[in-house]
Amino acid sequence: MSEDAHRPIRLVMFGRQGAGKGTQSATLAERYAAPHISTGDMLREAVAAGTPVGIEAKSWMESGRLLSDDLMLRVVDERLASADVEKGGFILDGFPRTIPQAEALLEIAPVDLAIDLEVPEDVVLERLSARRVCSSCGNVTNAELAEASGGRCALCGGELEQRRDDTPEAISERLAAYNDQTVPTIRWFEQKGLLVTVDGLGPPAEVTARLVAAIEAVVAG
Ligand code: ADP
Repeated sequence: MSEDAHRPIRLVMFGRQGAGKGTQSATLAERYAAPHISTGDMLREAVAAGTPVGIEAKSWMESGRLLSDDLMLRVVDERLASADVEKGGFILDGFPRTIPQAEALLEIAPVDLAIDLEVPEDVVLERLSARRVCSSCGNVTNAELAEASGGRCALCGGELEQRRDDTPEAISERLAAYNDQTVPTIRWFEQKGLLVTVDGLGPPAEVTARLVAAIEAVVAG
């Protein structure tokens, strides 16, 4: 497939915390010229900017609990109404996470494909505790590389830090929410015939190649 002329793609990305979903979503967004819509990033921006949504979201996010479906729908509904979504579709990263969110999404927009980026829980636990994020550009790296670069981002020189919800307590809360609420949501997409599962282990470029193959078999093939 050529990388320029294609119709908008509408993808939902699932994956445990630390599966590499954010990194892969950003890569796919560039490849398919589709907006990368990360609800986690949008909410962290709202918290940093002190908007009403951010004020409401802050303590829930820090403790690793899910925000209410109502609040999430307000956030996502508005984002999906933008012109770039109309033109390029979307790669949704972090939404939907509950069955009511999934039902609401399909009322707003059709979805071509949902992908479950599968990484076992013991692997994500290790990745999350070592995760470091650039406070300026959001680039994600790990503790070992952060130490080697003196705590500075390799891309922009910004300060690398640990996410406030990458604490052992919040990690276990987030994984529990994933198992209790998001795994049934994934099964919901599966029952609709919209799901593919992709192995998320291995070097990022290999995972990307698997994702592209899975997408093109269904959507753009
Ligand atoms: P992670 O998937 O690693 O837990 P995200 O960056 O995707 O982190 O999201 C961070 C936090 O934002 C979540 O723990 C939750 O509090 C909130 N959040 C993001 N998306 C949703 C959603 N769809 N429903 C409810 N809460 C959400």
